[in-house]
Parts: sequence; C-alpha cells; structure tokens
Amino acid sequence: MKKKFILGTAIFMFTSISAMAGTKVTPLSYVTGQFTPSNHNSFINLDKTQIPHSRKNMYLRKETARAFSKLLQAFHREHPNIEIIIISATRNFYAQRRIWSGKWNGTRKVMGVADIRKIKDPVKKAKHILDYSSMPGTSRHHWGTDFDINNLHNRYFEKGKGKIIYSWLVKNAGKFGFGQPYTAGSKRGYKGYKEEKWHWSYLPLSTKYLKTWNRLYETETKKFKGQMNFPGAKSSIFLAPVYVNAIDRACK
Ligand SMILES: [Zn+2]
Repeated sequence: MKKKFILGTAIFMFTSISAMAGTKVTPLSYVTGQFTPSNHNSFINLDKTQIPHSRKNMYLRKETARAFSKLLQAFHREHPNIEIIIISATRNFYAQRRIWSGKWNGTRKVMGVADIRKIKDPVKKAKHILDYSSMPGTSRHHWGTDFDINNLHNRYFEKGKGKIIYSWLVKNAGKFGFGQPYTAGSKRGYKGYKEEKWHWSYLPLSTKYLKTWNRLYETETKKFKGQMNFPGAKSSIFLAPVYVNAIDRACK
C-alpha cells in the first residue's frame, strides 16, 4: 500500500515538472530543438488525431496538425483511395544528434559515400552528411512545423500515386499554409540540401521560427554555438546558416 502511494506521488511530481518544462522553453532552445515535444503544451501526439502516421508517438505543433487535417480532407475529396501518411514529424536536437553522430561515425549509411571514415577533412565530411541530414540544432524538424510524407525518395513522387500526391500538393498545399522548402536546386541557387519532394512545412509558423533562428545565430552567436554539442560541430557549424536559408523563395 505504502509503495503504491510513493510511486503515485513520484509519477505526479514527474508529470508536473514535465508540464512546467514545456512552458520554460526559451526561444533559443526552441528553435534549436532542445526540448521534449511530448512535454510541450503546443504539441499534439498524432495518435490523438485522424492524421495517418507510420509510428506511435509522433508530434507536431497543434496548428500544423489542424491545418494539415484540413488539407487531407480536401485531398481525399478528390482522391479517396490514395493515402498521405506522415513518416517523420518533430525530431528534437537529441534525435537529430543520434542521426548525425551515426553518420559521422560511419554506423549509419551516408547516401553517395562508400565509407565516411576515410574522409579526414571534417568540413568535407560534414558537407556529405548535409546533402540529406541537418546538423542537430539546425533542422526544421525541430519546430513542429515540418514533416516528411510517404517515401524518402524523389522518384516515388514522379510516377503513380506519388506523382498524384505531389502534383496535388504543388497546386494546392499553399491554400492550407504549406510549402516545400527543398525544391529543385535550380530554384535555390544550387545551395543547401538536395531536393526533397517528401518534406513539407507549415509556413505561418516556420517563417517565424526561421527568422528567430537567424536572429539568435547572429545576436547570441557564442551562446548558440556553445549549445551545439555534436561531433564536428566546431569545424562545421559555420555552414549552418547557408543550409538553413537555402530554401524555396515561397517558404521564406
Ligand atoms: Zn524532412
């Protein structure tokens, strides 16, 4: 009986501290993803929505989820038998660091590179990883506004159902506030990440967070860089603003 009571108290304390943590996120920790979406009041677990998603416990900002639900309704009125499914939503700094570190250490595959451990120049190494993965602290996936759908290959969106989805989004997503940040390189001066037809962003919020990210990188540079704790950060963080800002003009 006593044990149960103690456990109950511990759980209560934990949840109230977590709820408090959600309200204490600073602008810098927010835009660099150094918080836990499940503890943040502005985020919703997609399990509680009608939005199809590939795993349990994926999170988005509530505004993003609401707007995307409306987009899905409109899409399904025209294409009732084609599914748009979210395969990656909010990833915080720590999740992004797992991806980045795995690629940096060679335990995770880097597309287009045979063996990353053979590349000694840290900037060169970072640039290879940056073709498709952001540095921790610099990903739009931190913000709860951006997510990936259906398939992480552009070719999926160039035929069949993928093409129907992509063409529809290009034509209609803007009406619901969404845009594709990583369009073809030719539209972005061949800078930054490669094209990602699967990555979409809720612009009413993400344009705001982009401005905050840039402002803090410039005005609180030391503090900002001090929080960038991941392999290769010191030598390659200077690349971050180029990648963060090399997005389609419609998403700025
Ligand atoms: Zn993405």
